Amino acid sequence: MSLSTPPEIGQRTAVVTGAASPRGIGQATARRYAREGWAVVVLDLDAASAQAAAESIASEFGVPSAGFACDVTSEDSVANAAQTIVDSDLPPVGALANIAGIPSPSAFEELGLDEWNRVIAVNLTGSFLTSKEFVPQMIAGGYGRIVNMSSVTAQHGGGVFSRTAYAAAKAGVIGLTRGLARELAEHGITVNAVAPGVVDTDIRAGSDDENERRLAQAVPLRRQGTPDEMAALFVWLSSHDAGYITGTTQNINGGSYIS
Ligand code: NAD
Repeated sequence: MSLSTPPEIGQRTAVVTGAASPRGIGQATARRYAREGWAVVVLDLDAASAQAAAESIASEFGVPSAGFACDVTSEDSVANAAQTIVDSDLPPVGALANIAGIPSPSAFEELGLDEWNRVIAVNLTGSFLTSKEFVPQMIAGGYGRIVNMSSVTAQHGGGVFSRTAYAAAKAGVIGLTRGLARELAEHGITVNAVAPGVVDTDIRAGSDDENERRLAQAVPLRRQGTPDEMAALFVWLSSHDAGYITGTTQNINGGSYIS
């Protein structure tokens, strides 16, 4: 049984997108769900990496776990992943952590429509497509939590490692979260967003130590966040205890944006 769902609900599966990256927030979150007793599904672009992450989680935490290839921008790919889960022996889906994301470093003058569309597709449309597929499973199973990945960039407009397209996508995630929270409340499903500041992962490809130090020093708490700190928030928002919190954006940024 999951430690963070009520006893009468029984064990549930947490689906985590973008969870194959070894130093990423997604994999840390998948591990944290497993630590709390959830069964876990790892979804990411590469099947072998997703399976390897799931096998490592199953052996470390002793929970059911599976990894599948899934491109969150493709309706067919997301539908296939959802059907594979239904056809498996995994417990019903009770939580969806939409963590897959890509940055958008281009300055506005160089930002083309292809990059704009790709950034919106992965960061925003992906969360719409996965929600469409997994909400019916949550309704059928009687327990539902959706946690979407936004960013301080939605609030600041940039300044960390991404610019306008990413800011628009991550602000869109906040709107998606609010809309879904209202619409899904009648089913008892909560929907929240997490807006991290700078987190120590591999997303800033090409960033050197000096740049990473500069980013940390710009944070009032004088350090970057860790994937584990983000993971703890995702899993807590998925818990029974967080059942009266919906439609919110949780800032977790070391004080870099205080509203
Ligand atoms: P990461 O690059 O380690 O992880 C991103 C993961 O998303 C990768 O595993 C990648 O393969 C996967 N992915 C990319 N496109 C995909 C697609 N189309 N379908 C499925 N999976 C896909 O980076 P991270 O820092 O762990 O980022 C995780 C999330 O956190 C992202 O949404 C990112 O925007 C957000 N975020 C990160 C930071 C930070 O400072 N690291 C800050 C705020 C928000």
